[in-house]
Amino acid sequence: MPLLTWTERGLYCPRGDFYIDPIKKVAQAVITHAHSDHARRGSKSYLCSRAGAGLLRHRLGQEISLQTLPYGESLKVGEVALSLYPAGHVLGSSQVRIEHRGEVWVVSSDYKRQTDPTCAAFEPLRCHTFITESTFGLPVYRWPDPSHVLEEIHRWWSANRNQGLTSVLQVYSLGKAQRLLAQLNPSHGPIAVHPNIMALLPAYRAEGVAFPPLISLADADVIRVRGQGMVLAPPGIKSGILDSLKPLAFGSASGWMHGAADQRGQPMGFVLSDHADWPGLLQTVHETGAESIGVMHGFVATLVRYLTEQGVHAWPVVARAG
Ligand SMILES: [Zn+2]
Repeated sequence: MPLLTWTERGLYCPRGDFYIDPIKKVAQAVITHAHSDHARRGSKSYLCSRAGAGLLRHRLGQEISLQTLPYGESLKVGEVALSLYPAGHVLGSSQVRIEHRGEVWVVSSDYKRQTDPTCAAFEPLRCHTFITESTFGLPVYRWPDPSHVLEEIHRWWSANRNQGLTSVLQVYSLGKAQRLLAQLNPSHGPIAVHPNIMALLPAYRAEGVAFPPLISLADADVIRVRGQGMVLAPPGIKSGILDSLKPLAFGSASGWMHGAADQRGQPMGFVLSDHADWPGLLQTVHETGAESIGVMHGFVATLVRYLTEQGVHAWPVVARAG
C-alpha cells in the first residue's frame, strides 16, 4: 500500500487516516499553509505547524479544532510518524514528512528556495518518495535575485515620488505583501496597506516578524501618503479606497510578471515569486535523493516528462490532470 494516494477528497494517507490539504471536508486535515487553495473550511480537526497556527485560525476561524506541531517534531498518527519542516513559502508553511517502517515520503506543498525574512527557509529532506509542486514548472521560469528586485521597486518608488505620484503595488494579501513590507525602506516615504493585508500582520508579529511603521488605507491619516508614499493592495483594487491618493502609479509583484512585456497603461511588473523556479524545482528534487517523484499543481506534464527523460521515476499525482 502506498503511503499516500490521491482520492476525491485529496491526498490521503491510509496508514495514518488523514488528508493533506484536502479539497473537501474530512475528519483529519493536515494543512501545509493558510492559502485558500490549501486551507479549506469544514473539516472536523486540523493539524498545522506551530508557526502557521495564527494565520490558519485567521483564515478558518478561531473556533476550529487545531493541533499544532513545532517544526521537526515527530507525532505518531495511526501507523505513521508525521513531522513538519519549513517550506519557505509563507509564514508557517510546511513540508509534510511521513515515515512508516523506514520508508519516508515527503510532500513539499508550495515552496521556494529564495530567502524570505518572514518565514523559515526551506529545508531539503532525504526521502524515498518526494511529492513536489510545479506551479512554475517550465524551463522559462528563472527568478532574478530578490535583492535586485527590491532595489528595482525602491527605484520605481523614487521615480514616482519625483513626479508627485503615489505608488500602488499590487500583491497577494498573504505572504507576498508581508515579504515586501518587511523589506521596504521607510526613509523613502510613508507606507500604507489595504485593511485585508493589515488584518494578517498580528499573526506575523506574534511570530517575531517586524515591519516598518504602516498606515491603514482605512485611516483618515492615509492622506500623508499622497504623492510620495507606497501603498500595498491586493490585485484588483484600482479605485474607491485609493481615490483620495490620486494620481497613482501601479505596479505588480509576482512570478507571473516574468516575461511580461512592458506595455503602456499596464502596471510596472516586478518578478518576485513565493514558488520555486525551474532550477529551484530540479535542485530540490535532486537534493531529496528520492527515487520516485510525484508532481502536482501547475505544469505537471512538463516536469514529469523532463524528469522521466533524465531517468527519474516521475508521475502525476492527480491522474489525467495537468
Ligand atoms: Zn501557497
